Amino acid sequence: MSAQAETGVIGGSGFYSFLDDVMEVAVDTPYGEPSDSLFIGEIAGRRVAFLPRHGRKHHLPPHRINYRANLWALRSVGVRRVLGPCAVGGLRPEYGPGTLVVPDQLVDRTKSRVQTYYDGEALPDGTVPNVVHLSFADPYCEAGRAAAVAAARGRGWEPVDGGTMVVIEGPRFSTRAESRWHAAQGWSVVGMTGHPEAVLARELGLCYSSLALVTDLDAGAGTGEGVSHEEVLQVFAQNVGRLREVLFDTVAGLPAERDCACATALDGLNLGIELP
Ligand SMILES: [Zn+2]
Repeated sequence: MSAQAETGVIGGSGFYSFLDDVMEVAVDTPYGEPSDSLFIGEIAGRRVAFLPRHGRKHHLPPHRINYRANLWALRSVGVRRVLGPCAVGGLRPEYGPGTLVVPDQLVDRTKSRVQTYYDGEALPDGTVPNVVHLSFADPYCEAGRAAAVAAARGRGWEPVDGGTMVVIEGPRFSTRAESRWHAAQGWSVVGMTGHPEAVLARELGLCYSSLALVTDLDAGAGTGEGVSHEEVLQVFAQNVGRLREVLFDTVAGLPAERDCACATALDGLNLGIELP
């Protein structure tokens, strides 16, 4: 079996652990170690590399994830399209637990994360990245989004097609005031990992789509005590089966050729470094 893949899924072990033939591939990168090994298997005749975002023991909090290493590792085994399922809080009462959102916009409210490959710092091989400014007006791959929405519908799980994900630093959840403010901006869901994952994918010329599973109503949208970690884990466990089905159908439904804007995002740019 080859250690190559065309599609990457950054999600938990729940997404690959039942595949028959999975090959574990440890990948080192110029940015250090990814969250875990890649687990490469096959879905609908397509090679897919799974990467547990928080590590297989779930030991990495969102702000400690080596996002640069994760995306670089995926690209280095041939991945050009990435799906990023994640758990989020709903910012509107109608987006309760179990809602699936396929966002089309993102707001970055993180604070401490490295969010570019093009920071002028030399790589171990001595090459130095140039300063590069990419368009990020549309942070998600339109083809990937369409495939995800169609896959969810095909499974009878009507998704929210579009919307804005605001990404906070965490690991704490929002205060009520923060949460009300996020909702008042018209944003849809709040998460902790969607950035810089999306922008780093763009910087490597990868397609990136997010599938956001609402596990709770955020503090400002509900009337209860606010979010608890147990609540999040419980709702995620209840929905992981159908989220997996939708992810697999999304992989199968991605168009054979990449003719989306992500595929040409790096065209004509002098990056200064060689991408894997
Ligand atoms: Zn794309």
